[in-house]
Amino acid sequence: MSPLGARPRGAASAPRHACGVFGVYAPGQPVSQLTYLGLFALQHRGQESAGIAVSDGQTITVVKDMGLVTQVFDERTLASLQGHLAVGHTRYSTTGSSSWQNAQPVYRSVGDAGFALGHNGNLTNTAELAAELGMLPGMVGERSRVDSTTDSALVAELIARAWPAEARSDGRDLERSLEAVLPRLQGAFSFVLMDDSHLIGVRDPHGFWPLVLGRLDGGGWVLASETAALDIIGAHHVRDVQPGEMVVIDATGLRREHRYAEGDPRLCLFEFVYFARPDTRLYGQSVHAARRRMGEELARQAPVAADMVMPVPESGVPAAQGYARVSGIPYGDGLVKNRYVGRTFIEPTPQLRGLGVRLKLNPLREAIEGKRLVVVDDSIVRGTTTRQVVAMLREAGAEEVHFRVSSPPYRWPCHYGMDTGRRGELLAADLSVGEIREYLGVDSLAYLELDRLRRATGAQPSAFCTACLTGEYPVPVADADGDRKRVLEEPFLDLRPVDAAG
Ligand code: 5GP
Ligand code: MG
Repeated sequence: MSPLGARPRGAASAPRHACGVFGVYAPGQPVSQLTYLGLFALQHRGQESAGIAVSDGQTITVVKDMGLVTQVFDERTLASLQGHLAVGHTRYSTTGSSSWQNAQPVYRSVGDAGFALGHNGNLTNTAELAAELGMLPGMVGERSRVDSTTDSALVAELIARAWPAEARSDGRDLERSLEAVLPRLQGAFSFVLMDDSHLIGVRDPHGFWPLVLGRLDGGGWVLASETAALDIIGAHHVRDVQPGEMVVIDATGLRREHRYAEGDPRLCLFEFVYFARPDTRLYGQSVHAARRRMGEELARQAPVAADMVMPVPESGVPAAQGYARVSGIPYGDGLVKNRYVGRTFIEPTPQLRGLGVRLKLNPLREAIEGKRLVVVDDSIVRGTTTRQVVAMLREAGAEEVHFRVSSPPYRWPCHYGMDTGRRGELLAADLSVGEIREYLGVDSLAYLELDRLRRATGAQPSAFCTACLTGEYPVPVADADGDRKRVLEEPFLDLRPVDAAG
């Protein structure tokens, strides 16, 4: 596959994730290999490009390219990346900006110094900042939802401009520049940054996207989007970087834990529902256990008589387990997933396109024929996959299909870094649950209520961003006319669960 080839279309109908970030400060340890492994553990957060920046104390070297972590790096490349400090990034794709230039980490030189930046998130005041800097509007895109990489380049520009004219001997220029820049940023950002001798982690005041601090058992510090990445490299979770906090790590260890803004935690609720790995912990809670509880709640909220509970794999598995446990209906597998369908997927020819979702998921006829099925998935976004799954199950002889979703209808675009498309692409944007049931062709349909979902996380129920479900945006976003609002318009209200009769 050409590294600069067109965007693969295998998952074209599926929305894409937030990015993954990683950083490590560990003299005497193979930091680029550790970063590679950390990024590999975070591959699910972004498959379009991967990159690592490493410093040996003098020089920062960056290697980045399009593709999966395993496609971008091989042993030789990693062996050439020597140093004691590194940051890495895996990037999701954003329509129209799939190019090498947009791969991260972003590198900037400032006088004799330089720094590298990896960003998970999306700023909401990019256009204003660009205007202040006198950058052309085209440089940051015309849409209100600007892609994260261009706004990352903008942040790098802001930092470079805030850089002290004369470097101080204490080497804290990056830290000071950031302190000047951070209060000007609005929206969502979990940053990992480095200069030649400091590792810095920053989370926006709402902490929309996760960022954790870990300690390597052999000594050294780690920053990562998810705790699972710590497990994989033999580090332990020290704590989360707090919303509104900047942490600075250097030769003296964790030197600074600085609250630059008051925190109002609003972690993306979808991290619990779908994004995060099940073996990650968020707000101190096991994501897998939380997803099981979502399924249990769903069984209490929307029971149905059936012969088998089955997941849409992989994402629907824990919730289906929970549904089966509470309902007492046997759990079974009805679909087999091809694990190797990912970003490397070739673009189907028109002839093959008809196969659609079957390339990813294939029904097990003998398991489902003649049965009344409860089919559980974590979410429906555009509805294209779900509709095809239902059709396949019917074709394979399912007698009834009762679809259960372990999150509420996904009805509002994310402006903070998840590329789920515009409102019009979201199935539930303007349809009632009854209309969705009809579109999907299921016998009954129910979505988990928001309050039950929040409770199932086990975390403080108010500590979440639920904009995609409620239309209430913690940080104001531009509406169609460019006006900044917290609630874009009256949410559409008929969300009652339905069956074919009602
Ligand atoms: P749909 O029916 O909306 O086309 O697809 C639903 C499926 O998309 C569900 O299985 C759900 O796990 C998955 N999904 C939800 N959010 C995302 C995302 O951000 N990226 C990807 N690739 N899949 C997602
Ligand atoms: Mg799924």
